[in-house]
Amino acid sequence: MTLQIAAGMMPMVIRARMAAGVAHAVPWGISLDGLLASEIRENTKAAARAAGADYPPYSPDTVPEDLGLPLARCTGDGADGWHWAATFAYPEDEVPGPHVQYWSARPDQQALDQMSAELPALVSERQGRYRSRVMPLPLTVCRHLVWRAVGDPAAVAELLAPIVSIGKKRGAGHGHVLSWEITEELAADRWEFAHLHPDGSLGRTAPPACLHDVGDVRTGGEGEMGLRPPYMHPARRSRVLLPAI
Ligand SMILES: [Zn+2]
Repeated sequence: MTLQIAAGMMPMVIRARMAAGVAHAVPWGISLDGLLASEIRENTKAAARAAGADYPPYSPDTVPEDLGLPLARCTGDGADGWHWAATFAYPEDEVPGPHVQYWSARPDQQALDQMSAELPALVSERQGRYRSRVMPLPLTVCRHLVWRAVGDPAAVAELLAPIVSIGKKRGAGHGHVLSWEITEELAADRWEFAHLHPDGSLGRTAPPACLHDVGDVRTGGEGEMGLRPPYMHPARRSRVLLPAI
């Protein structure tokens, strides 16, 4: 496991000042490399739209291409198990939880009526595909979210600047970002900033090879998950160490 660091890259702390916190679907925080990759995709998509060209969406059947992020790379297991040198979000000044909101949804009978020529007399709200739902939404309530990374601070700042909300249910006002701040940490340990949260626990998914020779690091155990964006893509799943929670 070694870090591949291009010229101009350095350890840094990225801090998002949050209006109220963030909603998420998994127990750990939002990945910085995932945020940067989706921003690059959005920009490319917008350019394609402006040029009247098609932009191919992710497909579960094809291996997604790795985008060029302004981050160093950790070679991980030395084969396909490499990852970007950046952690998942770590809450600062957190209001102890758990905080769970619930949202509900029910099908619009009038809209179903317009879409179907043969609507049954009763579309059940209690069972079947069109039943109404009540879903939990776990929230992290905090003042700041913090990521550590090794990369190009100016390029990272430029990609993050237009992002005004992160996480789940952004349209409902969750995950509103008030400002982004990047602090260069020239003297910091590069391996640590590529892997660990400020409290010294594992701060991202990593192949077990990353944690050989570094002593005791608290992790979230082993599991099947992605190492790089798009994290949820089936082709990205592998046996990894999970971030501590
Ligand atoms: Zn690593």
